[in-house]
Amino acid sequence: MMCPIEIGEQSELLAYSGRKLELSRAVALERHLESCSACREFVEGQRTVWQALDAWQTPPVAGDFDGRLFRRMEQEPAEWWNRWLRSALLRPGLPLAAAACLVVAVGLILERPDAPPEPQPTSQVQNLQPEQVENAFDDMKMLSDFTRAARTDAGEL
Ligand SMILES: [Zn+2]
Repeated sequence: MMCPIEIGEQSELLAYSGRKLELSRAVALERHLESCSACREFVEGQRTVWQALDAWQTPPVAGDFDGRLFRRMEQEPAEWWNRWLRSALLRPGLPLAAAACLVVAVGLILERPDAPPEPQPTSQVQNLQPEQVENAFDDMKMLSDFTRAARTDAGEL
């Protein structure tokens, strides 16, 4: 038998460790394990993981958990949103990204041509869409580059 680790085929070792390998292949692998310390270590490591997972017991969820959660969200929705918004805005780098986003949004609004006085045929709107999408992608790329550059600068300080 070729060593599964040497040929980079560890699926058989994983199946064996999980006791999902068919008997004939398991026997062949056990013969290989007697002479290969690398595979033996791999299987022992996997068995340790399996044993830990078998022994792991999750604490029982309180019977009325969902009900209490929803009641609490109903009681204080504004506070819940405030906390979420505050934690989202206090992340490092986000205010800068939000400001950049605002600049791009204002730029897009200013760049947009004035609304035509009469409704235009649908074909014209469809002709404009790919270009608008392309511009949006360019803006997103620029914003992403800007955010990355800003983070790099902040990291170097
Ligand atoms: Zn081996």
